[in-house]
Amino acid sequence: MTREAPMDVLSVASEAFPLVKTGGLADVAGALPAALAAAGVRVRTLLPAYPAVREALTDARVLHRWPTLMGGSARLLAGEAAGLELLALDAPHLYDRPGNPYLGPDGKDWPDNALRFGALARAAADIALGGIPGLRCDLVHAHDWQAGLLPAYLHYAGQPHPPVVLTIHNLAFQGRFEASLLAPLGLPKAAMAMDGVEYFGGIGFLKAGIALSDHVTTVSPTYAAEIRTPEGGMSLDGLLRHRGVAVSGILNGLDTQVWNPAQDALIAAAYDARRLAARRTNKIALQTRLGLTPELGTLLFGVVSRLTEQKGMDLLLAALPDLCAQDAQLALLGSGDASLERGFTEAVRRYPAQVAVVTGYDETLAHGIQAGADALLVPSRFEPCGLTQLAALRYGAVPVVARTGGLADTVVDANEMALASKQGTGIVFSPVTRAALVHAIDRTAALWQDQAAWRGLQRRGMATDVGWARPAARYAALYRALLDSRRADRRT
Ligand code: ADP
Repeated sequence: MTREAPMDVLSVASEAFPLVKTGGLADVAGALPAALAAAGVRVRTLLPAYPAVREALTDARVLHRWPTLMGGSARLLAGEAAGLELLALDAPHLYDRPGNPYLGPDGKDWPDNALRFGALARAAADIALGGIPGLRCDLVHAHDWQAGLLPAYLHYAGQPHPPVVLTIHNLAFQGRFEASLLAPLGLPKAAMAMDGVEYFGGIGFLKAGIALSDHVTTVSPTYAAEIRTPEGGMSLDGLLRHRGVAVSGILNGLDTQVWNPAQDALIAAAYDARRLAARRTNKIALQTRLGLTPELGTLLFGVVSRLTEQKGMDLLLAALPDLCAQDAQLALLGSGDASLERGFTEAVRRYPAQVAVVTGYDETLAHGIQAGADALLVPSRFEPCGLTQLAALRYGAVPVVARTGGLADTVVDANEMALASKQGTGIVFSPVTRAALVHAIDRTAALWQDQAAWRGLQRRGMATDVGWARPAARYAALYRALLDSRRADRRT
């Protein structure tokens, strides 16, 4: 129990698990509210009312109506779904479309994405400004570029408003649009400035969020440092450095109820750190399902990933002959770049007993891989936090990861010194090249030979605290510090 006053936070995101998910942002937006409740924070989550969100809100109440919002009428719906106190922006002209939240059936961004997510930010600003009776809001937590204009709307409203925390889940997605959209987005001319929304002559949603939020977090301390460098800053490093101590890193957690090997209905056999032998059933089940030779004695690598260059999937493709030369196997689940999908499918033809690839999105198989693979490969070129290595730790799949971002913050390399003092939870390699990845695969194969040492790695990994309690306490402390400094400002 907390002795501090309860706090009402509005979380604004474009996806939340399990309602709509394309990546880690959804996991965070879906799991953080419950963890914050334990820290005395009440979170309402504002999402666009995509068809899946609309369907989940079976007993929705209408809290507000906008006669026009970015080209059509809109309603604010409220209800409970998936354990979230949900607010849904029901604007059929923007969100009533099938499929991916960001991409049309042609695989390209929806052409009106600026207005779609501008509307989300505008509606959030109206809530934050107290315009909707019954919705108290002490602080706003905006996620990624899709909510990036929110602090801009608050700033240019010219009236007192709650503090805003912006969390960057991936700096690569910046929401850049043409300057001509300023008026359609309902922003004043004054906003087209260096300290406003202007970004390379256009409008930058994420840039605006970074410039105008009270505090910016990203999802790991190492990534917070990397994005302040020219190499990792993706053109925003100068601004991020300029924000100084208003930028910090808070590691993501994992939803340890969704990801719990002791009670996971999606896997063949439940287990925990004391009953690791039961993982064998999951390994055979995985090999069998995927058409790999079912052999306990063969080192089985798993991958659950978007198939992109960010994730180093091109390097993995190039390293496959070496992996197969080690007599190892690979079970890969992923979707993304068509050329990578083709490359991996081609590899299956070359190594049918050793390489299995499933393209698409499959929650059950993702759990099956974590429970059945011996090691999980994450060779990302950059990785803000990464959730799959956290699930791997929890499931006793030894993570083999690139030394970058959150991967570097969550996996302890099992080098000789670490092993001698019974430390180490995985293999950490750098630089992120094909050669270093091959070396990491070779190291993994060597470690695998010593099954007692391997079980030590698994057990230490499974004992790692990957839950949300600690990160949620950090967010709650940040929220409180921001509110306290607002109060202090008002007194002076
Ligand atoms: P990112 O958000 O950059 O894609 P993260 O590691 O932070 O990467 O989060 C990815 C999340 O999506 C994890 O929960 C992972 O299990 C899941 N995931 C990724 N690809 C797939 C897939 N093809 N099928 C099922 N789950 C997937």
